[in-house]
Amino acid sequence: MRRVLTAATAALTLTTAGTMIAGAPAHAAPTAWGRPTVTAAPQPGAPGLGDSYFPDYGNGGYDVGHYDVRLRYEPATDRLTGTTTILATATQDLSSFNLDFLLDVESVRVNGWEAGTSTAGVHELVVTPARTITRGQQLTIVVRYAGVPSETLVGGYTGWTRTADGALAVNEPESAWWWFPSNDHPLDKATFDISVSVPNGVEVISNGVQPRPPLAEAGNRTRWGWRTTSPTITSLAFLAIGQYDIVTDTTPGGQPVINAYSTSLGALGPAARASIERTAEIIDWESGIFGPYPFEAQGGVAGPVDGIGFALETQTRPVYSPSFWRRGANTYVVAHENAHQWFGDSVSVADWRHIWLNEGFASYAEWLWSEEQGEGTAQELFDFTYGNYPADDEFWQVLPGDPGAARMFDDAVYDRGAMALHQLRLAVGDDAFFAILPAWTTANRYGNGTTAQFQALAEDISGLDLDELFTTWLFTAGRPDVAGAARTATAPAEPKSWAKIRESHELLSQR
Ligand SMILES: [Zn+2]
Repeated sequence: MRRVLTAATAALTLTTAGTMIAGAPAHAAPTAWGRPTVTAAPQPGAPGLGDSYFPDYGNGGYDVGHYDVRLRYEPATDRLTGTTTILATATQDLSSFNLDFLLDVESVRVNGWEAGTSTAGVHELVVTPARTITRGQQLTIVVRYAGVPSETLVGGYTGWTRTADGALAVNEPESAWWWFPSNDHPLDKATFDISVSVPNGVEVISNGVQPRPPLAEAGNRTRWGWRTTSPTITSLAFLAIGQYDIVTDTTPGGQPVINAYSTSLGALGPAARASIERTAEIIDWESGIFGPYPFEAQGGVAGPVDGIGFALETQTRPVYSPSFWRRGANTYVVAHENAHQWFGDSVSVADWRHIWLNEGFASYAEWLWSEEQGEGTAQELFDFTYGNYPADDEFWQVLPGDPGAARMFDDAVYDRGAMALHQLRLAVGDDAFFAILPAWTTANRYGNGTTAQFQALAEDISGLDLDELFTTWLFTAGRPDVAGAARTATAPAEPKSWAKIRESHELLSQR
């Protein structure tokens, strides 16, 4: 997927982190963030988890188990009011702790007691409980708030997309700040109940399943409820509010399928359906390669014509821009976003620098889907991609294994990431390669991973030292030398799938 203002936001948060470091006690140095504080006196929870790209994303001192996000939304004004109840466990003695959030907070209660609040940095809500918290204590944090998310800007930017008939809360990695307070980093996963009251006739789609039908409320309103029972990272919870046609079904394996199509799609509607309605088939095929599907539901949301320009692997139900349907059905983007359910959603990055573990793998899934469809083998796609970027192209200067915050969604993370996986496949052979993929998703199911851990697993299974391969393809600038067709052929034939994959990546990535 892609987010819109990476560079601007990253610069802003880095500045903020610097400010906080300068003004904070020694224990808050970035390298110490997230470690339990060994001290008798309760300490403030760290304002970040020390992510190497976004040091102040997420917070230290507690671990969230569940979010109950209860909202009321007015499409006519973009006014959002809400109460989010967070169930968490303290991981240290705390005098205060932070939540990541941007809207105006009316009150915070911790285990029933009204807490003090203040703001800090770009997106930090500092909560000072009436009573100190001890390590291991169960916390019920109730935050009441309101705001207009589309007008709540960070560096001129909002991750909330207001549309003609509603809104989309779909963005990566900054999304939660505009609609629920959270510990906003992939290291802290939780389950979700999300409910939204809207005027009658408006639809609300979110993650997981609907535990009950929409409920009538006073004032000609309807409350929609959604539930995610698998651990979810905060940036993959989502809302799509507006005019949607909802299509429900059950897979042969008994999983609920819930798809939604914006009524604004017009002539793009049939292509959207011819793509998204194949989700269950594609997930079934991917399950044969990546291991059992990790979640409790499946689906897709075809967003409105005035919504997002990309697609995002929102858990159990990716959201797609209408741009993907301009040239007809596109199953490659469906294969990409659903591959993320394993690579990104179930196995999430431990630090955003490892983003190729999401995008390289989801892109390689497109190559495998191309093979399956008879539209070009992964080798042909590797050769053509290799030749498509001349050796002096800037593409080869971006390191997929550490692209930098501003280039997290660069083409190189997608295409060279997929090329790195193909080189791994060639080096270890198909038997080992197709054992490594499900072993990775099994070992780290509902958890987090790093590039070093993936390399170690690949070395364990293959029995090979892969250090040179990983260093060359992920961490070395310049076009690596390869043997074979890509090197010798001046112009390898264009695989049939190339145009659609390229078009998808132009929408998904950013340079
Ligand atoms: Zn992706």
